[in-house]
Amino acid sequence: MSHVPQIWLPVTIEEAWKIKNTFRNNSAYIAGGTILRLQEEKGISKPDHLISLREIPSLQEVSHSQNDFLSIGSNVTLSYLLKHPFIQKYQNSLISAVKEIAAPGIRNQATIGGNIGYQYGDLIHVLLSLNAQILWYDGVSEQTSLLHEFLELMINQAETFSNAIIINILIPNRAADYDHTFYFEKIGRREAFTPSIISISCYLELQKGFKIDECRIAVSSSQHFPERLLRTERLMKGKTLTKEEINEMYKVILLEYNPVDDPFASAEYKKRMAANLLASFLVEKLLERSEIHS
Ligand SMILES: Cc1cc2nc3c(=O)[nH]c(=O)nc-3n(C[C@H](O)[C@H](O)[C@H](O)COP(=O)(O)OP(=O)(O)OC[C@H]3O[C@@H](n4cnc5c(N)ncnc54)[C@H](O)[C@@H]3O)c2cc1C
Repeated sequence: MSHVPQIWLPVTIEEAWKIKNTFRNNSAYIAGGTILRLQEEKGISKPDHLISLREIPSLQEVSHSQNDFLSIGSNVTLSYLLKHPFIQKYQNSLISAVKEIAAPGIRNQATIGGNIGYQYGDLIHVLLSLNAQILWYDGVSEQTSLLHEFLELMINQAETFSNAIIINILIPNRAADYDHTFYFEKIGRREAFTPSIISISCYLELQKGFKIDECRIAVSSSQHFPERLLRTERLMKGKTLTKEEINEMYKVILLEYNPVDDPFASAEYKKRMAANLLASFLVEKLLERSEIHS
């Protein structure tokens, strides 16, 4: 018979951190608990102490400030995100990505913080391309880090960082006076949940005349952590969108993106898929704008 872990229900972030620090590797935070469910199905045993974050009110809030950020509490569920008026009004790019995650029953439990804490969640690359920041608690004070820095800490300093609590996800407002374009695509195997084979997102700010003022591209693929394609972004920024630039970008992605082989798709396939998806999005954008301006 499998053992029954002790469930802790702290009501403050500080209390949750202290419990985690007491039991360390023999404990885990849980938000929606859907990853725990996946791990159980794979026969991975639970730690003796589960620290639920569901009773902490400050993790459940969504707010917006005109000059700053959309702030999403880490415990906000994916279903709630889909219907929240602020998300629809200020960051509807998130909606298409959230709709691709699991079935509604799972989305009722799964949280945005858990998607990041899991480290392979499908929202991570979307949030990277939206330049999100993380407000988190380190046991002493609240810290703010860019999402990619936060992920580096989580992955590279796992031991010292395992008690950190994600409080809010902060998504900067879009700059006014630009044509904003957001692209998201998830290519997966159509069966019970496995991480997508490849997912890509791209955020562009275009001036009239197709000049690219801002470009953020993020990719994730199976068995490979999500990442920004900074070299490709640098190539695109300041350029005018033309077929020639798209060809250049295609070549640079093939050089920059280095995913890994897995039992279902080779690294070469994932790399080419990333380049193809992005190139076809940009060609479509080019055609669309040419039609508008012709
Ligand atoms: C059938 C099924 C289908 C799924 N399909 C998808 C899919 O298509 N795409 C996808 O991305 N995921 C999928 N998942 C995985 C999962 O549901 C989501 O990634 C979800 O967003 C995780 O959120 P959660 O609240 O359930 O996380 P939990 O399971 O509660 O936590 C996940 C991890 O994050 C940590 N954590 C949680 N909250 C915090 C916090 N505030 N601070 C620090 N650490 C924290 C936990 O300790 C744990 O390590 C699926 C799961 C199932 C069961």
